[in-house]
Amino acid sequence: MQGICLLGATGSIGQSTLDIIAQHPDKFSLVSASANTSVAKMVDICRQFQPQRVVMGSQSARDELALLCADLDISFEWGESSLESIAADSAVDQVMAAIMGFAGLKPTLSGIRAGKRILLANKESLVTAGKLFMDEVANHNVCLLPIDSEHNAIYQSLPQHSAGAHKQDVDKIILTASGGPFRTWSLDEMANVTPEQACKHPNWSMGQKISIDSASLMNKGLELIEACWLFDVTPDEVDVVVHPESIIHSMVSYRDGSVISQMGNPDMKIPIAYGMTWPNRIETNVPPLNLTEIARLNFESPDLRRFPNLQLAADAWYLGGTAMATLNAANEIAVASFLQGRIGFLDIARVNHKVLHQAEVIPVNDLDVVFAADVCARKLAEACIVQETF
Ligand code: NAD
Ligand code: MG
Repeated sequence: MQGICLLGATGSIGQSTLDIIAQHPDKFSLVSASANTSVAKMVDICRQFQPQRVVMGSQSARDELALLCADLDISFEWGESSLESIAADSAVDQVMAAIMGFAGLKPTLSGIRAGKRILLANKESLVTAGKLFMDEVANHNVCLLPIDSEHNAIYQSLPQHSAGAHKQDVDKIILTASGGPFRTWSLDEMANVTPEQACKHPNWSMGQKISIDSASLMNKGLELIEACWLFDVTPDEVDVVVHPESIIHSMVSYRDGSVISQMGNPDMKIPIAYGMTWPNRIETNVPPLNLTEIARLNFESPDLRRFPNLQLAADAWYLGGTAMATLNAANEIAVASFLQGRIGFLDIARVNHKVLHQAEVIPVNDLDVVFAADVCARKLAEACIVQETF
């Protein structure tokens, strides 16, 4: 029986994780769960799974939840230190890191330092803390399983799973991208899109922020950096290929010309269940892949002129140090501003570009530097949005 700490339980990844836990009550139990503000969804989770501890983002959310679930034997808590505490709790074996954005970094690190198996959906924590994050994973001998579907596919296609192959046999990592809802749109057409249009992903149902990131290709940019940290490569060793059907989730190309990929219907329950049971597999209730029904798989190159965020991510990697935390923070502010109707869709990449090149790049020697860069980039992004200088 594996005890699960589910960070971000009310989100899209959180709900898919709960689905797997509910399907396999003999294998998993929900020990703890967190959410920011969604009290109503958390009431349902508490009633169905009866975790030991639940953490909300504010005292008012905690109090409201505690009142609604007063008949249940659950410890209701709130705030950052409680989040870090549930990730390190001795009853927990696996931490699902599924909080949205930079806010997920501290609790994820807490799980790493406590030696838990880490199921990493929260790509922003790895993108921003990079080497520090991977050093902690190595120092605590942690089993880190990527949940992002592309990285999960790469993980499955890398040498440890391909009999006899070694790292030096790998030629390239091929990171696939759906291209998002605006793949075929001109810049003029994209200039006036609404948040509703941008959130309508053709293949995946996801949280708001990652849906906007997918539409702007910032998600692929973050994933490029994520792949570099996870698999110890540079952006030059990763090819991004647009594959609109999202059936091939990514590939590894070997020096003999072999290409190994992982395929499946676009449903996050597959990589989630893989992470929870690795090196074994379990049922997920995802319908089997019907290749004759799909019939055709298409591939094209990403258009960096229409989607400059992808290039910005590679630039940030080569700038190094705090540049990746800066880009991520600028993007979090820009996406939130787009969702609030304060800036247009194309302005997201403009804000990101401006802040990335405005902020000082500092070597990342400790976490304080990352947090300072995050605060600074948020201020720069906010200022250039208010002053319309992007
Ligand atoms: P979501 O918006 O649906 O859910 C986010 C969860 O985090 C919610 O439970 C919310 O309450 C919590 N949260 C948000 N802000 C918080 C804060 N400041 N403090 C504490 N908790 C907070 O997001 P999602 O789509 O489930 O994505 C979660 C993470 O997984 C993101 O990093 C995303 O990039 C990554 N991811 C998601 C998918 C997907 O298919 N949804 C795929 C790959 C990776
Ligand atoms: Mg992904």
